[in-house]
Amino acid sequence: MGKLSGRTALVTGSSRGIGRATAVSLAREGALVAVHYAHNEQAAQETVGLIEKDGGRAFTVHAELGVPGDIDQLFHGLEAGLKQHTGQIALDILVNNAGETLATGTPPEEISVEQYDRLFAVNAKAPFFITQRALGLLTDGGRVINISSGLTRVANPSQAVYAMTKGALEQLTLHFARHLAPRGITINTVTPGLTDNGHDVFKIPEVREQMARQSAFNRLGEPEDIARVVTFIASEEAGWTTGASFDATGGGLLG
Ligand code: NAP
Repeated sequence: MGKLSGRTALVTGSSRGIGRATAVSLAREGALVAVHYAHNEQAAQETVGLIEKDGGRAFTVHAELGVPGDIDQLFHGLEAGLKQHTGQIALDILVNNAGETLATGTPPEEISVEQYDRLFAVNAKAPFFITQRALGLLTDGGRVINISSGLTRVANPSQAVYAMTKGALEQLTLHFARHLAPRGITINTVTPGLTDNGHDVFKIPEVREQMARQSAFNRLGEPEDIARVVTFIASEEAGWTTGASFDATGGGLLG
């Protein structure tokens, strides 16, 4: 019996990277996981395959976030999957992980209104309305976990708008903590540092070395490093902590 046996979880953006590792980790502890994706169905199926190979249970849910109708589509798929696998529509764990960033090296002077609106739509607006919609499904004692970024703590002008979206997400954590507490639901933030999500930039040795130096441990984060923190917050043991931020930067903010 895992720590999350009998629980259900939605991990947005779990076709790849941190979301995939989180889905795998939650499922290893016994949760039935809804593996959400936007564009990459094959990758989402691979996440489900990894979970099933481990003896876990999962299903995919498709919805591009940041476009009209996104929340309806997400919950349509989620509710159908929950009903099919459990016979009811109850959610214990919501991980708002899906996110987009700008290509590195975009100076603030060059960010367009469209880019700004898109980042806010996916990284801040969608998690708010997903959480709002999830309120009716979330069980008492449930968990909401928002994936932010260490960039809310250190200045990087080329990621100013991205960091602004994550700052907004962290406010969701703070204010909903008060709102959800009467039901015993906790909501917390996890702030990853640079984490190797398999994208091309992480394959360049000199860039890897430079990025690794940002961690006190002198290595890049692995998606599993973040997933372990999320899985702890999802567990019973973390029930006395809400409205908090968990550093998962590998000591990247120590100065
Ligand atoms: P990733 O490898 O790029 O994966 C992003 C995931 O989000 C994918 O599953 C993708 O789905 C989904 N997604 C992206 N845009 C979406 C949209 N518009 N609608 C629905 N789903 C969408 O990302 P990651 O690096 O693991 O990052 C995960 C989270 O951690 C993000 O919130 C990110 O801001 C945060 N973070 C990452 C790092 C890092 O260094 N990696 C550092 C700090 C914070 P598809 O595959 O279907 O496109």
